[in-house]
Amino acid sequence: MTQLTLALSKGRILEATLPRLAEAGITPAIDPDQSRELLINTSRDDLRLLILRATDVPTFVAYGAADMGVAGKDVLLEHGGRDLYEPLDLGIAGCRLVVAGLPGALAAAERRPLRVATKFVGIARDYYARQGRQIEIIKLYGSMELAPIVGLADVIVDLVDTGNTLKANGLEAFETIQWISARLVVNKAAQKLENERVRELINAFEPDANG
Ligand code: AMP
Repeated sequence: MTQLTLALSKGRILEATLPRLAEAGITPAIDPDQSRELLINTSRDDLRLLILRATDVPTFVAYGAADMGVAGKDVLLEHGGRDLYEPLDLGIAGCRLVVAGLPGALAAAERRPLRVATKFVGIARDYYARQGRQIEIIKLYGSMELAPIVGLADVIVDLVDTGNTLKANGLEAFETIQWISARLVVNKAAQKLENERVRELINAFEPDANG
């Protein structure tokens, strides 16, 4: 029997996913957090794990290099979701994608294009295009919260969980673009060719499926 491959990423996704798999009797052969191995077998001969950078999960699944994966809705929206089914909201790693800035930032930029610092370039462009608002995107890869403070941007588009990071930097959330949670994604061809085993794994991930 060919192995099914499940793509995961370290951090929030792995922390939230491993307990679900364990409930379904699936455990990694080695602890991904303690190892540098990126391809890990599991207690089930027909299932292996790929440990990827979060933003790469949809790419591996879309090309069929992994049959299934777990990725945040933010990552999926930014990727575009082509060639992927999204059969299950896992309801884990929840947060909000927001527009945030220093108090008064929106009013100050009312008469000119809004300068938006973000790593979610596609999502930000779509969001403001729908509003007919002119923007200038400044692509960043981290520490987004700094951008408004040092005058690099009027606002940021970023993920917020507890709100502590915004608060610690004197920023406030102005608008929520999207509620985010981790989703199970499946390669479209795998869904057809391996339907039974894929469905079985989807069931294993259902919150109430394991009693
Ligand atoms: P917090 O201070 O709890 O609001 O967390 C905010 C910081 O954590 C920001 O730098 C976010 O980019 C990051 N963050 C929050 N939630 C997530 C998530 N679900 N996935 C990835 N990064 C997140």
